[in-house]
Amino acid sequence: MFDNLSEKLGGILDRLTGRGALSEADVDAAMREVRRALLEADVSLDVVRSFTDRVREQAVGATVVKSVTPGQMVVKIVHDELIAMLGSDGQTIDLNAVPPVAIMMVGLQGSGKTTTTAKLARRLTQRDKRKVLMASLDIYRPAAMEQLAVLGRDLEIQTLPIVAGQKPAQIAKRALEAAKLGGYDVVLLDTAGRTTLDEEMMTEAAEIKTAANPHEVLLVADSLTGQDAVNLARSFDQRVGLTGIVLTRVDGDGRGGAALSMRAVTGKPIKLIGTGEKTDALEDFHPDRIAGRILG
Ligand code: GDP
Repeated sequence: MFDNLSEKLGGILDRLTGRGALSEADVDAAMREVRRALLEADVSLDVVRSFTDRVREQAVGATVVKSVTPGQMVVKIVHDELIAMLGSDGQTIDLNAVPPVAIMMVGLQGSGKTTTTAKLARRLTQRDKRKVLMASLDIYRPAAMEQLAVLGRDLEIQTLPIVAGQKPAQIAKRALEAAKLGGYDVVLLDTAGRTTLDEEMMTEAAEIKTAANPHEVLLVADSLTGQDAVNLARSFDQRVGLTGIVLTRVDGDGRGGAALSMRAVTGKPIKLIGTGEKTDALEDFHPDRIAGRILG
């Protein structure tokens, strides 16, 4: 049988050759397959609905040009709409501010926040030639602070010395002062995560944001957690205000649905993706690749 969406749409629609325009019934049959593919890709239901509505609107009554089959035409509409929803290429980390530019990383524990902080530090240092300081604000887990320090040593990137007894917002301020004195371009603030979304985490993140006035607030979210990641993104955006999202574990996610849901729900760009455990496994986000995955 058909194994990907493009072929399925071809199977449904390409019988209709010789007709001038797609009827509502043809498009409805096709939209059922689109809906199924998106749900299988773990796109949230609301997003699936608004997506299929948008595609349906464009497809019903659309004239089928001779050079393509009806299936190809709808595949193109779906593809273009996926790209439109995922946002255009080229959303990078914005360093356009007076240095030291603070970048705050937020997210749940285990989402890959500390690893991503080190990955980003490495990229900014090696590729963009910036002088980077990393600071862990996770006062609850000394192991997390140590993890960042170890990563920093491996990468030869400075981490803020650990001082016991300080609150996260105080550490953030200390990091910025140290960065100013040391002539750093960028300060990466790795905040504490918890295992679930809770009020305390949000309050703390909001306090750190006030203290550090970061230029970027990046949510680090595990692409494998699907719907939870979307709820998380919404809450963080409402409470703290996000400037972008980093999706991790994309290497283990063949479906790509989290990206679409996150973007559609928050309207915030996915700026980077994590594609492995090593510190070089950080890539730019390319909407066409995710669209390709969903279309199969
Ligand atoms: P934190 O608690 O959010 O700081 O999470 P960590 O940075 O400690 O990451 C948790 C685990 O996920 C570690 O074993 C990382 O190596 C792993 N990890 C992080 N990002 C990725 C990724 O993009 N792909 C894969 N496969 N593993 C990742």
